[in-house]
Amino acid sequence: MTGLSDSFQRPIDYLRISVTDRCNLRCIYCMPSSGVCLMPHEDVLSYEEIYRIVQAAAELGINKVRITGGEPLVRSGLPKLIQMLAEIDAIDDISLTTNGTLLSGYAAELKSAGLRRVNVSLDTLKQDKFNLITYGDSNLSGVLEGIEVAKSVGLNPVKLNMVVMSGINDDEILDFATKTINEEWHVRFIELMPFADEETTASRFVPVSNMRNRLELLGKLETCLPGIGNGPAKHFRFPHARGTIGFITPVSEHFCFRCNRLRLTSDGKLRPCLLAEDEIDLKQPLRSGISSAGLKQLIGEAIARKPLRHHLAEGYTPKHRPMTQVGG
Ligand code: SAM
Repeated sequence: MTGLSDSFQRPIDYLRISVTDRCNLRCIYCMPSSGVCLMPHEDVLSYEEIYRIVQAAAELGINKVRITGGEPLVRSGLPKLIQMLAEIDAIDDISLTTNGTLLSGYAAELKSAGLRRVNVSLDTLKQDKFNLITYGDSNLSGVLEGIEVAKSVGLNPVKLNMVVMSGINDDEILDFATKTINEEWHVRFIELMPFADEETTASRFVPVSNMRNRLELLGKLETCLPGIGNGPAKHFRFPHARGTIGFITPVSEHFCFRCNRLRLTSDGKLRPCLLAEDEIDLKQPLRSGISSAGLKQLIGEAIARKPLRHHLAEGYTPKHRPMTQVGG
């Protein structure tokens, strides 16, 4: 069956899968400074369980999946999962979101397993700021190397996600934008959502309108087509630039009317919306022997429960789960 849509006639064809709540970084915009409670390992879905869910979802009309986390590459054997999912006929696009720290070592294996493209979180080009943002002493050059290796093995496109924060990395917007002119960089500037500490979020928020005004210093941005993928970004490029710029406005201008996705948390809950607490448990039914037809019914229920839009503008903040569990 194809042509799945929700109660607001939005086509739903995309599943984002968080394969772990573990991460080797502690980005200030993602994790609360008080830390997060890690799930017991037995609560995390096995690859076989994820496979069964994707197979059922694919029979309903899902044809794109993105693997995320936590940091997906800290979970062992990830290429095996990619390979299993690539064998599902109806799945024609498998992508990954990663912080890039382990990417150089995995890129070739992921590509041959069936991964098509990758988004790398890159919030700064400066090592000292990288330490500040990630709460550690991780190696920024390792991330940059991961990006280059990913491109060289044919993962295409490699998109770079920058969460822009006032007084932390907003002074680098022009540096990132310049990279899109001279190199084939595809940068997406993302508005900060209130997932970590409330004070940080409130004082660091930069609307896309402000980012765009600053970028006008480099020239006039022209709209362009999104290329591969059907994400929430609006795409632009500078005249004759080799790369592109995307803006993602979850806060200042929601794009829920185009939402095409469901999310699967690492402990097996289907989330109709990133920014609402509603969840449908698939783990217990799976472990109690649910049939494929039963699974499909639960997935259909999650789609039917997709809300019209999120309520960040009215002051809603996600409390129940950190971003690392839901998967950004
Ligand atoms: N560890 C991987 C990574 O760093 O890309 C995948 C998980 S991370 C939660 C996925 C995406 O969520 C990243 O691109 C990150 O920029 C985005 N993200 C996390 N917290 C966010 C926030 N508070 N506001 C906006 N984007 C956020």
